[in-house]
Amino acid sequence: DIHLNRSFQESDREYENALRPLTFNGFNGQDKLVENLKVFVSAARMRGESLDHVLLHGPPGLGKTTLSNIIANELGVGFKVTSGPVLDKPGDLAGILTSLETNDVLFIDEIHRLSPVVEEYLYSAMEDYRIDIMIDKGPSARSIQIDLNPFTLIGATTRSGLLTSPLRARFGINMHLEYYDVETLTGIILRSANILNIACARNAAEEIASRSRGTPRIANALLRRVRDFAQVKGTGKIDRAISTYALEALNIDRYGLDEIDNKILLTIIDKFKGGPVGITTIATAVGDDAGTIEEVYEPFLIKEGFLKRTPRGREVTELAYRHLGRTREPEQGL
Ligand code: ADP
Repeated sequence: DIHLNRSFQESDREYENALRPLTFNGFNGQDKLVENLKVFVSAARMRGESLDHVLLHGPPGLGKTTLSNIIANELGVGFKVTSGPVLDKPGDLAGILTSLETNDVLFIDEIHRLSPVVEEYLYSAMEDYRIDIMIDKGPSARSIQIDLNPFTLIGATTRSGLLTSPLRARFGINMHLEYYDVETLTGIILRSANILNIACARNAAEEIASRSRGTPRIANALLRRVRDFAQVKGTGKIDRAISTYALEALNIDRYGLDEIDNKILLTIIDKFKGGPVGITTIATAVGDDAGTIEEVYEPFLIKEGFLKRTPRGREVTELAYRHLGRTREPEQGL
């Protein structure tokens, strides 16, 4: 089985890290966002100040971690990584914050999953570079104030809708990552192939790109699987024929849709006659939560023309019927 967005292993992690661009120049796509970030980073550098706190939101695998790392590199400062679920006690957060040097970047992945107590501590840290910590218990309990070095917090989330407004308000820079087009993904695949020393034809990279759900993480994962096929069943070189063969053998959707995408579309077609149907009704039928469908799945389905948002709910398109091999039931009363 291939590991795309969900189950992750150590070897996947290493592979990803090897392919992570380290400078703005190595980062493809998200042009507008990158242009703006370059300005903010240069300005902070010129003033010798920490960059404003940055919130990056968007679906998984689009480069939030990568960009954060690049920001730290381009600022010429240290980079520390943690995540919302890992920081479960205020002491954990205090430990990391006090270890930061002047203008360092602290990256908190899945920041929407911070516990409310930890989040509370983060407020004064972000605003005044200060934390108040309770020491001792009972009658001798008292709070001490710790001054921190100025730092930049970069928060990443796939679910910006779950962020509390006080937390959101503390980010001076707030940016959304978009799905990548096939051309940009093709460039990313060719770059990865080059790093990994794999010969890969442009039209083969294009085919992998078009089945990658607009997502660099998936593009790189598919490249790795196709390389296996090229080695075992081909000449070692990735050409159009071997990539088509491999992607078919791996059962990769022609449009790059994943299992849940297809499940959402099929549910609307089979249970709700193609819609319109409300998002919470879809979520219940699919067994996922409405927010995840709205922020992670739906944007891709809409962008690729499989789904439409109407005032009365979501509706699948003709393309969805064709792709899934279903025929639309004739409208009643015509
Ligand atoms: P996220 O944090 O949004 O889940 P990552 O930053 O971990 O995504 O990116 C996943 C993988 O995709 C990494 O291996 C990274 O190198 C690659 N990647 C993401 N965006 C780009 C890009 N714009 N150019 C090149 N590689 C990218």
